[in-house]
Amino acid sequence: MVGLAAAWALSDAGLRPRVVDPGEITDRATWAAGGMLAPMGEAREPGPFLHLALSGLERYPAFVRRLEAASGIGVGLHLDGKLLTATRPDDLRKLEARRDWLLADGHPVEWMDGEDARRLEPSLSPHVRAGLLLEGNGRVHNRDLQRALETAVAVSGVATTRGRVSALRSRGGRVEGVTLRDGRTLDAPVVVLAAGAWSGGIEGLPRPLPVRPVKGQMLAIASPDRPLCRVVTSPDVYLIPREAPEGPQVLVGATSEEAGFDRSLEPRGQAALEDGARDLVPQLGDAPVVERWTGLRPGTPDDLPIVGPDPEVSGLWYLTGHYRNGILLAPATAHLLTEGLTGVASPPAAFRVERFSDPVLVRGSGRS
Ligand SMILES: Cc1cc2nc3c(=O)[nH]c(=O)nc-3n(C[C@H](O)[C@H](O)[C@H](O)COP(=O)(O)OP(=O)(O)OC[C@H]3O[C@@H](n4cnc5c(N)ncnc54)[C@H](O)[C@@H]3O)c2cc1C
Repeated sequence: MVGLAAAWALSDAGLRPRVVDPGEITDRATWAAGGMLAPMGEAREPGPFLHLALSGLERYPAFVRRLEAASGIGVGLHLDGKLLTATRPDDLRKLEARRDWLLADGHPVEWMDGEDARRLEPSLSPHVRAGLLLEGNGRVHNRDLQRALETAVAVSGVATTRGRVSALRSRGGRVEGVTLRDGRTLDAPVVVLAAGAWSGGIEGLPRPLPVRPVKGQMLAIASPDRPLCRVVTSPDVYLIPREAPEGPQVLVGATSEEAGFDRSLEPRGQAALEDGARDLVPQLGDAPVVERWTGLRPGTPDDLPIVGPDPEVSGLWYLTGHYRNGILLAPATAHLLTEGLTGVASPPAAFRVERFSDPVLVRGSGRS
């Protein structure tokens, strides 16, 4: 999604991008994601991540309006809040701490006791002791969003090459284009590397790119009686209401595993997700699991995305490492890239690749 959002934004700004894409939809983190848009739930503290994530959220309504108009595909944007819950004393203290820093930093959050939380979401377990409503956070149907972006990009006249890039081509400190795995070459004065978890595997890069796959398992439970109105989390799981063609579902996520490029389902992780979901919303009872899947988040050492030009090879730009929040961040990072490439403004230092060669700059990102 990140590359497509960028191509759409660049084409809008009058540039003529070409997308190189293998076209294997279910490989993508964007397909595997939950579609939450939750800056205040993901950030650990005020800082560059929260700032970028809030700007991503702010862009979403207009981004979706334009996308739906251009593609004719609805993407199910809901910004009716995300409810964090706590049951155990330890978790309650952590939730209070989050409430305190979010309020001190001026964000719209509402504290609730267990009864208030159940008034908002009646199917929550009687064990829930407190809730924190993150107002204006929400969700989008990420798979429809991906389809809509593909259509909008095609309609806007952006060219697409089906294929997989094997190497960057550069000479004398300037980009010349890319080589594809099947031997074809493409010439280009600018190359934007936006290959998600696979970004570090492209040959010919001027530096090792510290992007690694972080596996996430998820599942979907069929829920004809629609137990939830909004995204709800416990410290163990998050639950996302989803309208699927087969009927209403609750998506349950997600594990976080350092397993390289392995994308297999693993029974223990799946069982933990199921148990966590049925504990938080007992009404799910023995409603059937209708889908199970995994995806690879593009992680970085400080959990922040990499956005900006390479300092040594002119014409090479990075747009990768969106980790747990690429759906949320894509419109904002596409905007940063477009501003950079059109000379309006440079991306902030916190997101530039140089930070990995400067130990002072590699520090806490402010996301959980
Ligand atoms: C289980 C899970 C849950 C998540 N939940 C959320 C959420 O609720 N909210 C949120 O904001 N984010 C979420 N994320 C994170 C989000 O999905 C990612 O950050 C985001 O999708 C990354 O987008 P991307 O375009 O960089 O990567 P991808 O969507 O993985 O796309 C990478 C693209 O690069 C292509 N590619 C790979 N190698 C090459 C090559 N050599 N040449 C050409 N193309 C190549 C791939 O085919 C693909 O099209 C979740 C992720 C996971 C796994």
